[in-house]
Amino acid sequence: MNTLYDETKFILKKYGIIANKKLGQNFLISDEVVNAIVTAAKLSKTDLVIEIGPGLGNLTKPLLENAGKVVCVELDSNMLQILKERFLLYSNLEIIKQDILKVDLAKLIREEKQKNTNLQTVKVVANLPYYITSPIMMYLLEQKLEIESITVMVQKEVAERFIAIPGQKQAGAITYTIYYYAEGEKVIDVPKDSFIPEPEVDSEVIHLKIRKEPLFPLAPDSLFFPMIKTAFSQRRKTLLNTLVNGNILSSKEEGKKILETLGLPETIRGEALSIEDFKRLAEMIEQKRR
Ligand code: SAM
Repeated sequence: MNTLYDETKFILKKYGIIANKKLGQNFLISDEVVNAIVTAAKLSKTDLVIEIGPGLGNLTKPLLENAGKVVCVELDSNMLQILKERFLLYSNLEIIKQDILKVDLAKLIREEKQKNTNLQTVKVVANLPYYITSPIMMYLLEQKLEIESITVMVQKEVAERFIAIPGQKQAGAITYTIYYYAEGEKVIDVPKDSFIPEPEVDSEVIHLKIRKEPLFPLAPDSLFFPMIKTAFSQRRKTLLNTLVNGNILSSKEEGKKILETLGLPETIRGEALSIEDFKRLAEMIEQKRR
């Protein structure tokens, strides 16, 4: 029997909740998937868990039982009362009613650790709202927060892009950013009927282990990420044309010489470059600009 299904139906009816599509509300009703997420996050009582979008709290419950402290960030005020009543007996929960992209996470982590010195590691766990998956991932990674891992449910196609190895067919600009900061792996495929209401797309849970240090150091004004973004903005064109059009390279002639020096053919497309190729390319262009 799937107990989460019954519990969700009961809560939706009790509080008269209709899922808000605009907020990406698809509530998880599969006990198996919830267990897989919690197992992949490898929780312990010394963990501070940040849960993005707890919704009705279907994932929150096992997080509270397995982690030291859970801080939930939820934008929909309709969920707050439900969460408060459902988890009345738990003393390790805090709920913040806010847009996750507006929360000062560095401050939050610092303050939680000061309040409770038992908390040693920070983990993000979430069934993400799909309309802002990439902005959330960028927000979590680019701030270089003290986070050990991110275990999230995302749309399947997006998951495959997130955990691809740069240079693979599924890779996009975001693949390089994620790979720069983290090592990713697939946890479980999630069919549409694992949610109420069912989303239009299939889903997947992924686990990202944040690297202790990013793959290599980059200057704050480095061309590395802007160049990758430009390179993937027009995938069908050659890298050379895209970088000239995007004003990363001043001319085709300059670009041809640089590619030749790097041992790359002038017809190469961005998607064929490894992350190290992009690094060397950015460094050479930066040198020429000086
Ligand atoms: N965790 C619940 C579950 O698994 O059943 C709900 C997941 S639902 C896919 C996404 C949740 O994120 C919703 O509760 C939604 O209200 C919330 N949400 C949407 N946009 C948000 C934002 N910008 N900041 C925080 N929460 C947000």
